[in-house]
Amino acid sequence: MISKKMQIAINEQINAELWSAYLYLSMSMCAESHGLKGIANWFYVQWLEEQDHARILQKYMVSQNARVILKQIDGVTVDWKSVKSLFEDTLDHERNVSAMIHNIMRQAKEENDYATENLMLWFVEEQVEEEESASDILSDIEILGDSRYGKFSLDKYLAERKYKMAEPLE
Ligand code: MG
Repeated sequence: MISKKMQIAINEQINAELWSAYLYLSMSMCAESHGLKGIANWFYVQWLEEQDHARILQKYMVSQNARVILKQIDGVTVDWKSVKSLFEDTLDHERNVSAMIHNIMRQAKEENDYATENLMLWFVEEQVEEEESASDILSDIEILGDSRYGKFSLDKYLAERKYKMAEPLE
């Protein structure tokens, strides 16, 4: 059984993951409205993955006899001024999420809560990947430039991304 304080922290994280999902869906809709179907696909996969993150935490709460309390999901930005700004916001957002995950990890260590620590290890690794992929795409945008051809090439390769269910849910 996890502590009450930990239950609250994980509950907050579930809300944050659902907000992330909502943010990426909004980014996907924004890209789609500009005819950038590949970029829209990349963010759509993000939206699915964020829901997986919430689901992993929700299942963990159930395993610990803890009740998940769903909260209101705050609104999100609806328009971005460029493709680059979409990915800059993604990287900023993922860095914030990493900090939240690290706080839960720190709390688990303080409480000698090995079960939560173990679960958080998966999230720590996941955040390394999240930050790396946003940062890699930003590097590609720098190389390709903001030309029509650049946007076209990026859109083509981001169209290839496919959703794969998060490993802890398999
Ligand atoms: Mg996440």
